[in-house]
Amino acid sequence: MYLIQNAQIWSPEPLGIVDILVAGGRVAAMGPNLDVRLPGLRTVDLQGAVLTPGLIDQHVHVAGAGGKRGFSSLTGEISMDEFMAVGSTTVVGLLGTDGATRSIEALYAKVQGLNEQGMTAHMFTGYYGMDPKYITGSIQGDMVFIQPVLGCKIAISDIRSSYPTATELMRRVREVVVGGMVSGKKGILHVHLGGAASQMDVLFEMLDHFEAPIKHLSPTHVARTESLFTQAIEFALRGGSIDITTGASKYTEPHWAALRALEAGVNPDLITFSTDGHAGLDRKDDSGQVIGTRPAPIAANLHAFQSLVREGSVKPDVALKPVTSSPARNLGLSHKGRIEVGADADFCLFDAEWNLGAVMARGSWNYQNQSICAFAL
Ligand SMILES: [Zn+2]
Repeated sequence: MYLIQNAQIWSPEPLGIVDILVAGGRVAAMGPNLDVRLPGLRTVDLQGAVLTPGLIDQHVHVAGAGGKRGFSSLTGEISMDEFMAVGSTTVVGLLGTDGATRSIEALYAKVQGLNEQGMTAHMFTGYYGMDPKYITGSIQGDMVFIQPVLGCKIAISDIRSSYPTATELMRRVREVVVGGMVSGKKGILHVHLGGAASQMDVLFEMLDHFEAPIKHLSPTHVARTESLFTQAIEFALRGGSIDITTGASKYTEPHWAALRALEAGVNPDLITFSTDGHAGLDRKDDSGQVIGTRPAPIAANLHAFQSLVREGSVKPDVALKPVTSSPARNLGLSHKGRIEVGADADFCLFDAEWNLGAVMARGSWNYQNQSICAFAL
């Protein structure tokens, strides 16, 4: 139990200087000058340091990924300590090209391991193709019977995809929507966009011909190319959520892509960042020759947020949305992405220059950089 005093809160909206009572892993009370006396309560005076919601990374290869250049190009798994050091307190794991060599069961075990350690991890079932890669035999069954499964991943416009038609994709949407109804989840079809010329055409076909429920579609890697991003902005202007990959697959720095979308009039609640952490990236020598594989960095969401406030001159409440409240909204996680009474006690503590000083996940301090945050937490 903690009484956190004098935190300058961006929730992501600015709330000013507030005290927070943390109990049972959640925010139990908030307000100015809270007067609480309880046995076992630890009091920390932050003296005006900045507190934000813990960051959400909604596409990260927690169990590893890669594998597009042979077995030696598979990447390794990610530890909770590594997530804490970059402020990510909630993650969604998934398979990629490694769907051929890794199983949904192995992903589930890794996700539950992270939950046991004290952070929050969810997952998408499925992978690139249409072939059934599920634990229970169906997407709907995985969503209903397996708690961390929020929806399904599928790929379009990629040689690794099954080139699904609009009708086939609608059947996947039906499974995540009905699976969500039965299990009390929102239900998300997370759509990997490859580099093929068909871009997002099949998604627009679903909207135009089947009146697909756009809030259940979540296209990712939308800033892979400039022309794909132009389509993504159109998708967002129709009310769809667009996911900009920060650690890989981008034609420009992710914060510049986000700025372009904001300038085009896209609602910031519809812009999300995800790292694609531990995707297999080509390692090249000075002459551009591929000499191996390196994992995509999981720090990329934190860095994209920092770049938005530092270089993009975006107000912190708007800059925070793609890594906090917007992915929580997209995923249907009502206890995440905001600092409010009843929400999970997931916080990032920053100094005045937005350097990460400490991280709390579900009510426990799990990371501290003493050179930035010297408080006794
Ligand atoms: Zn990926």
